[in-house]
Amino acid sequence: MKIERIAVLGGGLMGAGIAQAIVQGGADVILYDISQHAIERAQVGIEKSLYRFAKAGHFTQEEAGKALKRLSVTMDLAEASREVQLAIEAIPENLDLKKELFAELDRLTPRHSILATNTSELSVTAIASATSRPHQVIGMHWFNPAPVMRLIEIVRAVDTDESTIATIESFSQQIGKETVIVKDGQGFVTSRALSALLAESFRIYEEGIASCADIDKAIRLGLNHPMGPFELADLVGLDTLLYATEGMVEAYGDRFRPTQTLKKLVEAGHYGKKTGKGFYHYDS
Ligand code: NAD
Repeated sequence: MKIERIAVLGGGLMGAGIAQAIVQGGADVILYDISQHAIERAQVGIEKSLYRFAKAGHFTQEEAGKALKRLSVTMDLAEASREVQLAIEAIPENLDLKKELFAELDRLTPRHSILATNTSELSVTAIASATSRPHQVIGMHWFNPAPVMRLIEIVRAVDTDESTIATIESFSQQIGKETVIVKDGQGFVTSRALSALLAESFRIYEEGIASCADIDKAIRLGLNHPMGPFELADLVGLDTLLYATEGMVEAYGDRFRPTQTLKKLVEAGHYGKKTGKGFYHYDS
């Protein structure tokens, strides 16, 4: 099956980035969100980002304009689901919410459509169980910022069939991404390894061994990571990280337990870059 029309569900940090990456890659996207504000922010952000890429020489202004024309938006799930070959979900990291949406997508999308989740660490198998087509449900784990990051971690749930995996692998490559195919174990490869690094970095900070800035500098310059753990946490979103960490604790125990500092920042509504404050402060 050739994938030419995609619904992206959720137009936040990831959904907007995924939509942009796909229109840049040459396919049509309809972006759905329950929030008008999120849709407007996504549209403005995608337009700005496409023209910024054009200015930086990644493609021409004309190509940026064409990519933008491939994007449409809606607040109507039935409209988003119509005639799509692939639906990619990027709503908040909450299993009940995702299962509810997948049950609706199962009802509204054509029978041949593939349903993908961008969950960072929830069970793709559990999400698939909310549908009558678990063999066509798959994890497509993107990274932030989605138009720039090269990898899509493809997650094979218990019942995902080979043709679904092959279709998603080929689509990912068609839009210029690299892939790895992993089993549906809590946190897959990337979120599990990242959670371990973040949990230990947060503990080092809480023990007063070094400041956030110095831990970031040490990891950047000493271990050659492009970003330090606190910068990365603020970029990912501390709320998203906290949800993810709780799942990791359930699966693997205390070594992933979230620290008080992270919990308190989230309780205060300081989610990182997207709210202007997290471990660091950001100008609007
Ligand atoms: P976000 O909070 O920025 O965006 C979520 C969006 O979903 C919001 O715009 C919200 O209005 C919308 N929404 C909420 N309920 C909805 C519903 N029922 N239907 C449609 N839209 C709905 O979150 P995010 O950071 O974009 O994360 C989305 C998903 O991607 C999560 O599962 C997260 O774990 C995963 N993820 C995040 C990152 C990251 O770096 N932030 C990386 C990879 C994967």
